[in-house]
Amino acid sequence: MLDVVDVGKQSLAMYRGVAPDAQLDELLHLAERLRGARCMHINATPYGGGVSEVLRSLVPLYNDVGIATDWKLIHGDESFFQVTKRVHNGLQGAPGALTESEKAIYLANAQLNARRLVSDSEDYDFIFVHDPQPAILAAVSGLRDARWIWRCHIDTSHPNPSYWEFLAPYLREYDAAIFTLPEFIPPSLPIREVRVHAPAIDPLSPKNHPLPRQLARDVLEWVGVRTHRPLVCQVGRFDRWKDPMGVVHAYQRVRPHIPDLQLALVGSLAFDDPEGWSVYEEVREATAHDGLIHVLTNLVGVGNIEVNALQALSDVVVQKSLREGFGLVVSEALWKGTPVVGGRAGGIPLQLPDGIGGVLVDTVEECAEALLRLLRMPEEARLLGERGRENVRQQFLMPRLLLDHLRLLDALATSRPLPARGLVPTSLPGLTGV
Ligand code: UDP
Repeated sequence: MLDVVDVGKQSLAMYRGVAPDAQLDELLHLAERLRGARCMHINATPYGGGVSEVLRSLVPLYNDVGIATDWKLIHGDESFFQVTKRVHNGLQGAPGALTESEKAIYLANAQLNARRLVSDSEDYDFIFVHDPQPAILAAVSGLRDARWIWRCHIDTSHPNPSYWEFLAPYLREYDAAIFTLPEFIPPSLPIREVRVHAPAIDPLSPKNHPLPRQLARDVLEWVGVRTHRPLVCQVGRFDRWKDPMGVVHAYQRVRPHIPDLQLALVGSLAFDDPEGWSVYEEVREATAHDGLIHVLTNLVGVGNIEVNALQALSDVVVQKSLREGFGLVVSEALWKGTPVVGGRAGGIPLQLPDGIGGVLVDTVEECAEALLRLLRMPEEARLLGERGRENVRQQFLMPRLLLDHLRLLDALATSRPLPARGLVPTSLPGLTGV
């Protein structure tokens, strides 16, 4: 069997007054039509990145609106995750090619996971497969009753052809695919129904819920960050595409102008990300001599509340990515009213339109300049953050994402009707008062 991830309960009604009313109203309407359907989301890891962050909040909402939904994980050993990391990088354009033995590892793992999936013998109407790690499950599992959706969260606009040509034939079995931006849709995608949805953050999760200011300060002092000194931070996996060393270099350029400025680099280390450990070591080595640079990880207890406090109390948040899927951390910071200096990559510009939320940069020098400007002009920084927060409210909160999903499921159920149990047109007890 595939491992099931335990998630909590959440009620859509709790988002009334936080997310836009029009989105909640349309959700209720669509949920009526899909009530009783069964859905599964599959990915590779229960923590340590944007996908798991989204699923932890989204799956309980699916259940609340009457679509019985599970979140399951594929299995894999270190050699498999080393291959999938290379596939991930190759699909984002990194050079190289898979060897025959790497292909064999990838295929053998998919067959193993397909057997586990089939032995679960659950009767799903919709199966969402997230990212490349489990992507070929649709083809190898033989489960054709479900409607399969590939949710690709990464930038596949210019995939390295040798990786893409390996993966693409396995994608034909999908009924639909979702990308974060239109430009991420790879050339010659063999899936006809293609949607573009931005991911979203959960304003009610421990990471984004407002923290009392004093508690946030105490949390930061507890992890060694001094709250009487200015602070910039970047939160992100230790991944070269997130350019943590570029952040260190930009910070070092600002430091002579603001000598007591602190930098917090926060990264989680996940088991499906072996490369993260070497990037982490590199960052540690380069910054060990500097007491004002704090390198923090999940391994020393820096979790949701600490990230929340860091994003809320930083003077400026940086996300200097060179390649990015969406960059949830940008919306997370903006939701707390903190302005962001963001790399012009992937979904970051979507979250930082001109004059809203912060400043886009292309180089270390531009990053340093933008940081210095926002640190010296707190009123401009405050206004940018405030506008960014409203933009997030309109576009990047969880109910909007659920709405996009239900629109797709509704379209798929219309073109291939669900079994009778999938359509129970009663009122939704879970939704009363929404
Ligand atoms: N995150 C975290 N702790 C860390 C690093 C990341 O909680 O040390 C969270 C972060 O707050 C965000 C997610 O992991 O919710 C990262 O999502 P994003 O879209 O920014 O990047 P991805 O990892 O998916 O490339």
